Amino acid sequence: MAEHEHVRVAVIGSGFGGLGAAVRLRREGITDFVVLERADSVGGTWRDNTYPGCACDVPSHLYSFSFAPNPDWPRTFSGQEHIRAYLEHVAEVHRLRPHLRFGCEVKRMVWNAREMRWDIETSGGSWSADVVVSATGPLSDPKIPDIPGLDSFPGAVFHSARWDHDFDVRGKRVAMVGTGASAIQIVPSIQPDVEKLVLFQRTPAWVMPRVDRAISGPERALHRALPFTTQLRRGLLWGIRELQVQAFTKHPDELGLVEKLATYNMTRAVKDPALRAKLTPDYRIGCKRILLSNTYYPALARPNVDVVASGLAEVRGRTVVAADGTEAEVDAIVFGTGFHVTDMPIAERVVGADGRTLAESWSGGMAALRGATAAGFPNLMTIIGPNTGLGNSSMILMIESQLNYLADYLRQLDMLGEGTALVPRPRAVEAWNHRVQERMKRTVWNTGGCTSWYLDAAGRNTTVWPGTTAEFRGATRRVNLGEYEVLRAPRTGPASDRQAPAAKAAHA
Ligand SMILES: Cc1cc2nc3c(=O)[nH]c(=O)nc-3n(C[C@H](O)[C@H](O)[C@H](O)COP(=O)(O)OP(=O)(O)OC[C@H]3O[C@@H](n4cnc5c(N)ncnc54)[C@H](O)[C@@H]3O)c2cc1C
Repeated sequence: MAEHEHVRVAVIGSGFGGLGAAVRLRREGITDFVVLERADSVGGTWRDNTYPGCACDVPSHLYSFSFAPNPDWPRTFSGQEHIRAYLEHVAEVHRLRPHLRFGCEVKRMVWNAREMRWDIETSGGSWSADVVVSATGPLSDPKIPDIPGLDSFPGAVFHSARWDHDFDVRGKRVAMVGTGASAIQIVPSIQPDVEKLVLFQRTPAWVMPRVDRAISGPERALHRALPFTTQLRRGLLWGIRELQVQAFTKHPDELGLVEKLATYNMTRAVKDPALRAKLTPDYRIGCKRILLSNTYYPALARPNVDVVASGLAEVRGRTVVAADGTEAEVDAIVFGTGFHVTDMPIAERVVGADGRTLAESWSGGMAALRGATAAGFPNLMTIIGPNTGLGNSSMILMIESQLNYLADYLRQLDMLGEGTALVPRPRAVEAWNHRVQERMKRTVWNTGGCTSWYLDAAGRNTTVWPGTTAEFRGATRRVNLGEYEVLRAPRTGPASDRQAPAAKAAHA
């Protein structure tokens, strides 16, 4: 490992975002880059989430890269191990291995205005880079609430994204905290094995049937023999979801029919009226992420499951206590309580041109031009930045749009010449954010009557994109230089410590 190395681009993270950026860089003819990853393998979300039942909830043929179609997805909604293997395969086939630097957690990076570069300190060495692509993921740092007494709980305690495989659930009493996308996959997976499952539910979820099935051998053979059939399948999956967007963003009232379907999904599995009452949401469907499962409700109706319609408030020894006073004795507490989304930890580690951290700059709410670049932070691009999340479709579509933007950004920098940087004009960021927030007012996420992880502590929706993926694709096709200020390196002072181009080429 080099003690200090200068690269043209440093990518942080090796999930879909980071690997996608790396592939795109190579396709643009850029080989002078590293991917800094804190873990010891690629995969991001799909490396870290190994909980029982973990799978995607967007069909695999859409939840994959358009440039790396996989004719062999085993199921319509493939499991974690297959998605992880797919990402390993992408890294291999696209020759990304020489660029990967594992065990390198970015601890701090500071904009160096004299050298026009980022100085990056990691747990595995230091780098500098002309451009940084931050792909640390919106759902990569688990959040465990501060529960009084939790520290003294004598049993196992872990988050769904850090599943403790040394803990054998068989015959145990388990408290599951949360009813989000991970919890509804975990509950039916462990219910048959545990002695008792106590589910702490602050807010019930809307759960729709999951049209999941094995993809047959002949179907896969067809996709292999005629690759356009994979594209066709992807196109159909994409189109259906694009059509749904209007209801989420402009006409939430039209979602009433979907609510009826979700209610039917519950009532056919849950016969007990008291349990049904607990499981019936009081907000518009879509306000929180719509969850998909055929097994969640049947599992909740089993005699070894107790649904507590209240959050976990306290832990006393082995006893978990809900806010409504319900108590249960358990052997393990599993938190399905989400991630640091609107307070992403990397933001505290990035110091911009004016000496402020990204977190300080975003103290009034996350905002970035076209979901990518933040005022005061030159040559820094965030993949899945503010307001790029989706309620109903594949995040890979958004990531690929951002990669188009990245590629054009780098082309523009090339044209401007060495020693230049681009930083978005505050007015351009404000104007973009204003448009996004205006559109947000009518959406189901803001009007549906729920609180969700889409909203920050002040109630602002800084996470979701209030439009179609096609609109976002259009908005990120090109960098509009009018939205940016061009910074140039001061020409005085001692020779820069950057490597000569020849040395860089040798490294690549
Ligand atoms: C259980 C689960 C299921 C999901 N299912 C779907 C789905 O079906 N459809 C969908 O569209 N989306 C889904 N998502 C959202 C998912 O997070 C995104 O689709 C996508 O995987 C994000 O990719 P990413 O590369 O941006 O982030 P991640 O996959 O989270 O990767 C981020 C990487 O950055 C690394 N990293 C973080 N901080 C640092 C640091 N300081 N230094 C170095 N490395 C760092 C992490 O270790 C990680 O490898 C799901 C999320 C979860 C948690």
